[in-house]
Amino acid sequence: MVWLVVFPSTGRTAERATMASLRQTRASDATEGLDRALFERASEVLAAFDDSGRLLTCNPAARQQLGLVEPSAAGGLRLTELFAPEPDGVEVAALRALAAGETVRALRRARRDVKRLLDVSLQRVVPGPVWLLAARDVTERFEMVRRLRELVSFDPLTGLPNREHFRDQIDQAIERCRRGGKQLALLFLGVDRFKQVNDSLGYAKGDLLLKQIAERLRSAIRGSDALARAASPVEEADAASSPISRLGGDEFTLLLTDLDHPQDAARVARRVLHALSRSHSIADQELFVGASIGIAVWPEDGVDAEDLLRSADTAMDHAKAHGGNAYEFFNDSMNATSVRRLNLESRLRRAVEREEFSLVYQPLRDARTGRLAAAEALIRWTDGDGEPVGPDEFIPIAEETGLIVEIGSWVLHTACQQMRVWREAGHPSFRLSVNIAVEQLRHLGVAERVDQALFEAALAPSDLELEITETSILDADPRIVAAIGQITALGVGLALDDFGTGYSSLSALQRFPIERLKIDRSFVNGLGSSASDEALASAIVALAKRLGLSVVAEGVETEEQVGLLRELGCDELQGYFFSRPLPPEEFGRLLASEPVGSRTPNT
Ligand code: C2E
Ligand code: MG
Ligand code: MG
Repeated sequence: MVWLVVFPSTGRTAERATMASLRQTRASDATEGLDRALFERASEVLAAFDDSGRLLTCNPAARQQLGLVEPSAAGGLRLTELFAPEPDGVEVAALRALAAGETVRALRRARRDVKRLLDVSLQRVVPGPVWLLAARDVTERFEMVRRLRELVSFDPLTGLPNREHFRDQIDQAIERCRRGGKQLALLFLGVDRFKQVNDSLGYAKGDLLLKQIAERLRSAIRGSDALARAASPVEEADAASSPISRLGGDEFTLLLTDLDHPQDAARVARRVLHALSRSHSIADQELFVGASIGIAVWPEDGVDAEDLLRSADTAMDHAKAHGGNAYEFFNDSMNATSVRRLNLESRLRRAVEREEFSLVYQPLRDARTGRLAAAEALIRWTDGDGEPVGPDEFIPIAEETGLIVEIGSWVLHTACQQMRVWREAGHPSFRLSVNIAVEQLRHLGVAERVDQALFEAALAPSDLELEITETSILDADPRIVAAIGQITALGVGLALDDFGTGYSSLSALQRFPIERLKIDRSFVNGLGSSASDEALASAIVALAKRLGLSVVAEGVETEEQVGLLRELGCDELQGYFFSRPLPPEEFGRLLASEPVGSRTPNT
């Protein structure tokens, strides 16, 4: 590097002074002409500035690369104007160096062409209040270094950060979340049955699939709120801080930072699974692949990158073991219920297609004659592990997630088909009762679904009754009002379930075409032991009668309750005293044993 020395006070004689100075430092042989030639031809940018940052002199390279112009009489170009503005600009560093008498080096973008990167050295010459600047264009060299870095930090197939790089990203993100008091989630994704794809279609197509998956992941998380909040604009612009990476093989990871709730991670996981579920077209072949996602949350499931990766990997294995195409939270440290809730939600998504649901039927008996009046269809779920999950636990989840629409349709269809089977077997005639959740009523087209289920099973609308809950009629949601109107217009009856547990007002009861009230079993429970329960039950029955409604008592377990409810004037009774809900075959046997007089002709 050639140093150019200029004394500020000399003004126009600056160059001569420079040469003199060079001669002093390399006194041996340099002539003035040679010095001048060196100065002129140097490919490095050479310039000198006075103490106030004003340009004194510069060489052609400086003119060309930095757009410097020889000092004009007034003002002249300042050192600070040379470079694109950057937070810790040259002048700041230079001033520091000035104070310390050191050389500063920095990479700076040239002002004339911000794509060019300059390696700048700035030094104060002592004696004399002069700054010497030498700069070299390192754009190409820097680009090469960047590419090398890419090679070691990025996966060449997908262009995503690799494991090493990702680990650094996690550590940085943890630091950020620690400062912001936020949570962070790591999603570990494995492609289901990827080995089969590789084995059957070959590695080239397997690679294509991985590339498509990487693309889907990118677009799936692009709109994600959690991520939008996570990544600053700078980070988003920088591929190096992409929150997705490929660890190798069919394993990808996603980093979600600044979370308020771990549930936000579940939302992203669902979005990702959804994005991957569309078919992939690989060289003219349609492929369907699922994925399994394990979620680990910082700080609960691991304090550093290594821990978190391990936990998320474990959770991913669990998701896979449960059949894949699902996500699971790592569950050593999150509280058991929320883990269960989140995992149930994930499993519930697959339950319909996996045929994990079944229906049981519980008889409703005529309170006076004891004859079979109706059967209530009640859903049962045995998940992939063989563990039964009660409807009280999963129906609310199904409602929250909207899955109830699909599940409810299945229930309607299946129950109606079962009725058809019993009808065709010549069993006694009775009503079918099906529970309808409020979310189903909100969903467009519920009446059509009911109509279709009836039609497909060749049932009359009067064969069916839908049990709705008090929340359905409390809420004046126009969609619900419309749905109820359409259902009754079909000729299907409505019963109000669990009456007395909610807040239904009498006016609401009158506003809707409800035919039957089902007294909640909590009232029936206390009959015979609690005077107030007895008073309440009797008031409900009297009220219902006054409104012209039929009354069913649920949860009848003892003979004493049967007697009391009969006395009160209940029309129908349902409960363990008569029968538990039964699987269809058992219910069929019960039907076969019913009094022959109530059999319907076989149609
Ligand atoms: P629900 O509609 O009030 O159903 C009656 C519940 O009481 C059933 O519980 C039934 O098994 C239980 N039960 C019947 N007799 C007795 C008795 O004598 N003693 C006691 N202790 N319990 C009795 P299950 O099947 O667990 O269903 C619970 C709730 O889940 C149902 O209450 C209903 O609200 C909902 N549900 C069940 N199946 C469906 C469905 O297919 N769709 C919808 N949307 N909800 C359903
Ligand atoms: Mg019910
Ligand atoms: Mg009930």
